[in-house]
Amino acid sequence: MDSKTVRQHAFDVGFDLCGIVSAERLGEEAERFAAWLADGFHGEMSYLTDRPERRSDPSQHLKDAKSVIVLGLNYFQKDARETPPGHGRVSKYARGRDYHKVIERRSRELIRRLDTEVGTEASVEFKWFVDFGPILERAFAQRAGLGYVGRNSMLINRTYGSWIFLSEIITNQVLESDDPKAVKHGTCGTCTRCIEACPTGAIVGDRTIDSRRCISYLTIERPTEIPQELAEKMGDRIFGCDICQDVCPHNDKRARVTRHKELLAESGVGEFLNAKTVLSMQSREEFLKLTAGTPLTRPKLEGLQRNAKIVMENETAGRRIVIPDFEKKR
Ligand code: SF4
Ligand code: SF4
Repeated sequence: MDSKTVRQHAFDVGFDLCGIVSAERLGEEAERFAAWLADGFHGEMSYLTDRPERRSDPSQHLKDAKSVIVLGLNYFQKDARETPPGHGRVSKYARGRDYHKVIERRSRELIRRLDTEVGTEASVEFKWFVDFGPILERAFAQRAGLGYVGRNSMLINRTYGSWIFLSEIITNQVLESDDPKAVKHGTCGTCTRCIEACPTGAIVGDRTIDSRRCISYLTIERPTEIPQELAEKMGDRIFGCDICQDVCPHNDKRARVTRHKELLAESGVGEFLNAKTVLSMQSREEFLKLTAGTPLTRPKLEGLQRNAKIVMENETAGRRIVIPDFEKKR
């Protein structure tokens, strides 16, 4: 089995991007991650501190790891309109069906095809991950030539911008690696748009996000109350935040609407949630009726209601997020 065959199967099962890299342990990126943890930027995501060395070393997941196949799925969709009164805005990645499931189906089918390709004699192993798996996926994606990591810490690809879900398959097969320098994905250059536009000042350095201030973390991962100072800066964001991607000039030019219908707003909760409806929910059953099969189950009913309350308070107080008009600023 060669890299060309792997790539062909990856595209055939529906992935938009496929890059291959040797399973060498990450060096500099692992140090950056350790420093990020040491600074406490992971907030209450304590699972990230559990054996962090696993995230940079594929052999901790597959003993005889030789290659990492990095896969990408475009999820971009347009924002249809302004947020209607009494509603909160949902991040683009979460509007449709749960991407873990969408990726899982494709990954399993890809592995099935690769297994068939190598036949029964070879003792070939594959292990797949999507973002809940403990691996520094953006760093491996960059090494596999799928893009570069921008100041907003997102992987930016020359075809899709940063609207990409990443997943990985680790294998004990030796595959020819892609050359990260072969394709030019651009650079941030002197741009600082994402840093200027972030409503909470969560981008505290080049590629460094203080999760404790990031609206995505606050609305999805944080299990406890959101500090008032930050809640007031959340505006209408009820689940996640796309601002540092929306303002990125690479996304201006490159974003294209996903071809994967299950990721579109009409397949899931949609672009907005009615805050009053969320606040009126009394039971887990009601909550699951709205969110089952979508990423919105993550903060549980209590978390989503906490967010809805903040959205209503911000609306009543006239607190909106104002995004700089960078075109005018030029
Ligand atoms: S997701 Fe929103 S809050 Fe988080 S870093 Fe980006 S712009 Fe800032
Ligand atoms: S907005 Fe500018 S600085 Fe931020 S990631 Fe995009 S190009 Fe880089």
